[in-house]
Amino acid sequence: MKQIFLCAINNILSGTCKEDCKFCTQSVRYHADIERYSYKAIDQIVSEAKEARANGALGYCLVTAGKGLDDKKTDFVARTAQAIKAEVEGLNLIACNGTANKEQLRYLKEHGIDSYNHNLETSERYYPQICQTHRWDERYETCENVRSVGLALCSGGIFGMGETAQDRDDLLKAIASLSPESTPLNFYHPNPALPIKTRNIEQDEALEIIQKAHRLLGKERLLMVAGGRELLFSSDERKMFEAGANAIVIGNYLTTSGEAPDKDRQMLEALGYEVAVSCGTD
Ligand code: SF4
Repeated sequence: MKQIFLCAINNILSGTCKEDCKFCTQSVRYHADIERYSYKAIDQIVSEAKEARANGALGYCLVTAGKGLDDKKTDFVARTAQAIKAEVEGLNLIACNGTANKEQLRYLKEHGIDSYNHNLETSERYYPQICQTHRWDERYETCENVRSVGLALCSGGIFGMGETAQDRDDLLKAIASLSPESTPLNFYHPNPALPIKTRNIEQDEALEIIQKAHRLLGKERLLMVAGGRELLFSSDERKMFEAGANAIVIGNYLTTSGEAPDKDRQMLEALGYEVAVSCGTD
């Protein structure tokens, strides 16, 4: 029986970013109507991590808005990771804190982080159309830093932001060149405040992307349908699992709501899938 890996996200510092990524409601430039706050209390994060574990999550991602790590953020994520590891068993802890150098990543690893998420977002060619405040090659370099310090790498992208079919193929190839242990595939969720107004992807194209990613990355890797799942696959989740996805995000996304975890577990059961209880895939 195929097992599905569940991952949950905690936005531990929200909506305070000065970068200009045109798909991101957390940029202060676009004044999207989202909740914005500085560092969450560590006790609260630990309690939310316990809840996610009780809901079946094996992956737990600590996300901070902003271009990348600085000393304060690195220290906060490290202390949070230590606190979670001390109280919650069986979670694979993922940090997602933007651009990072090797020293910062080593520090996070020493304090309990298992994996680092940094998405390439789109192809190198299309990237300047969606972000002008930093470069695609900086993103690629952070992913290489993750590999070189021995953290597991989680890297994927967002589809449906106006890119071409060639851009999609190029992004998947670039991701595969990094051999990530896990890859989140996000499908763009339009927001009226953002410069990218519409989503240029339909379910059949999304399925093609999942199939291609599955072939390129290998079936032993985690291939996760993340943001936008509810927009493209609501009541049609079987198709994405049959195309090769073996992981989903449960609970809420960074700034948008997801399904209730109970509903997702019922959906998996109804489709005949099991919730994975360890980090390997079948
Ligand atoms: S750097 Fe990250 S948080 Fe900031 S706007 Fe870009 S995607 Fe959003």
